Amino acid sequence: MKTLSNDKKGLIVVISGPSGVGKGTIIQRLKQIVDNCVFSVSATTRSPRPGEVNGKDYFFISKEDFEENIRNQKMLEYTMYNGNYYGTPEASAREAAAQGNIVLLDIEVEGAGNVKKIIPESVSIFIMPPSKSALEQRLIGRGTETVDQIRGRLNIANREMDLSENYDYIVTNDSIDRAAQEIRRIILKEQARLNRPY
Ligand code: 5GP
Repeated sequence: MKTLSNDKKGLIVVISGPSGVGKGTIIQRLKQIVDNCVFSVSATTRSPRPGEVNGKDYFFISKEDFEENIRNQKMLEYTMYNGNYYGTPEASAREAAAQGNIVLLDIEVEGAGNVKKIIPESVSIFIMPPSKSALEQRLIGRGTETVDQIRGRLNIANREMDLSENYDYIVTNDSIDRAAQEIRRIILKEQARLNRPY
């Protein structure tokens, strides 16, 4: 006999927010506090940062391979961000959701809009920094980008924050624990709505 949790429908949850806002840390926390929660590993042509692991943080692939994936329609969505391709491999994300998992997609605003069009029952959440200066300080403190790259990311961040109202939910990352708990409640509510028998 199947257990109740196996009968539950999976959910695709798109998480966006400006570079440096703490999405990665919040996603790690969500994997700990939400049952059956998995991360959809994107493909990218950017170089790995120190500590990033191929197949866990991203699939780091060449531009040629990425473009071949696009031609072969392997991507649910993709975009060019700050000079590099980023995209969601379609089969793994859909399969994980079909198996009843909460599938977290860490993607930027254009990709988020595309996922919502393709999968209307997905849930989109935008993570806001407590302030613009807090974001700038975090990006500088992270020390993984050059000054020019930080400038590029802050320009994109301003445009992204302007588009946050297109999301189903906006959550401020004033504390990792509080933001993760708020997202957990959103996920449980949306999952319950999806699993209503009527
Ligand atoms: P980073 O280089 O900081 O890891 O990511 C840069 C931006 O690309 C972030 O806003 C992140 O959410 C976004 N991103 C990561 N993976 C994907 C993806 O598969 N598709 C899209 N559209 N954006 C992605």
